[in-house]
Amino acid sequence: MELTSLTIPELRQKLQSGELRSREIIDQLAARVEAVDPKLKAYLHLDADKARAAADTANTALPLGGVPIAIKDVINVEGDPCTCASKILQGYTAPYDATVITKLREAGAVLFGRTNMDEFAMGSSTENSSWGITRNPWDLDRIPGGSSGGSAAAVGGHEAFAALGTDTGGSIRQPAALCSCVGLKPTYGRISRYGMVAFASSLDQIGTFTKTTEEAALLLEIISGHDPRDNTSIDRPVPKYTASLGQGVKGLKLGVPKEYFIEGIDSEVEKAVRAAIEEYKRQGAEIVEVSLPHTQYAVAVYYIIATAECSANLARFDGVRYGKRAQNPKDILDMYGRTRAEGFGAEVKRRIILGTYVLSSGYYDAYYNRAQKVRHMIAEDFRLAFEKCDALLTPTSPTPAFKIGERTQDPLQMYLADIFTIAVNLAGICGVSIPCGFTSNKLPIGLQIIGPKWGEETMLRVAHTYEQATPWHKEKPPI
Ligand code: GLN
Repeated sequence: MELTSLTIPELRQKLQSGELRSREIIDQLAARVEAVDPKLKAYLHLDADKARAAADTANTALPLGGVPIAIKDVINVEGDPCTCASKILQGYTAPYDATVITKLREAGAVLFGRTNMDEFAMGSSTENSSWGITRNPWDLDRIPGGSSGGSAAAVGGHEAFAALGTDTGGSIRQPAALCSCVGLKPTYGRISRYGMVAFASSLDQIGTFTKTTEEAALLLEIISGHDPRDNTSIDRPVPKYTASLGQGVKGLKLGVPKEYFIEGIDSEVEKAVRAAIEEYKRQGAEIVEVSLPHTQYAVAVYYIIATAECSANLARFDGVRYGKRAQNPKDILDMYGRTRAEGFGAEVKRRIILGTYVLSSGYYDAYYNRAQKVRHMIAEDFRLAFEKCDALLTPTSPTPAFKIGERTQDPLQMYLADIFTIAVNLAGICGVSIPCGFTSNKLPIGLQIIGPKWGEETMLRVAHTYEQATPWHKEKPPI
């Protein structure tokens, strides 16, 4: 087996037995990137020599000692560029490490490259990147999903062992499903966002891309926890997530929300997810039907709340403090206006305009306040559902990866890519997407497992059971 197809526990075993040195891992991974990234374009920036130097001093006794991890271009790593795939941050260098990066370093990880994304994490296909499109490792004519498409393509294409991403409405789970990886979005407040560039602060969470659930559990253990520098992070002990695996699902109740099998869902996706539900029955779980009656409003509510919050968060990119500044301004207003007009792409502008509108006086009550009320109803739906079951099973994405360019002219069609993931962010709960098979033309399908707040242990246990019973996570991409 090629080294780049190994999992983190397999790498660690070789590192600790002395069969492999961390530098060799970096060498082989960098060679793989050189070979496939001209086609995939998952990375925006990679300094392999810096990674080699870090590998040489890595302490392999630590939980991630000598293991390279790729980082979405929205999380600050001191001394590296951090552009959020936006022209407005071209040339910006991160002055400090995000808390998750500090935690990775403390665990011995080697930071390896910056991955592509939709500009400021707004999108579902990575086509909104200012630096070019990332391709799906399973079919180069198709999108990898988004917004963390670079992280998903890197892990799915075996040019990263694991990667960090962010998920505001599905940006980890949807691309993970489309690239056949495990993509985990933890409970809101589980992981510090200090040093992550904010999109919609009441929804954003950092999470992971890996080949297996065991690796997802391991990374979650390392990057979770309270941080006084992010006051939305919750002071709650971090369980040993890896210890919750391997217990099977006997005695668990798994809910299937009837609203998640809607018209418009691809028939092969539906078939694969229904087969997964059957597998859970065989494994001894009790399947119960549940209802999440406000699901149909989730996309509308999200595009009011997320745009409102982004219009406030992105106000900081004004040409004064960060990155790009327009040349030869007439006066300060001209400087602000032209910096933003030249620096932001079309989707980001669309959202800032929408968000400013829904917050403006006269419309605030009609849109923003009403959306907040419906958001509570959506969260309440989940609370009631979790009185009847331990976790929910749903498709991650209604369709497999679509063709590049297929939805760029139709924002609404693009927004529907997240129809099954968005409500999880609105409710602040946790979700994971795991490989669930392939379509007849070999495109990956994802199964989403949703847990209640702080339900990561059960959610991972449920995910691991299916993974152990199926071969999907072991399939190698054609690239
Ligand atoms: N695709 C959704 C959006 O465009 C979600 C993005 C995300 O989770 N960052 O907003």
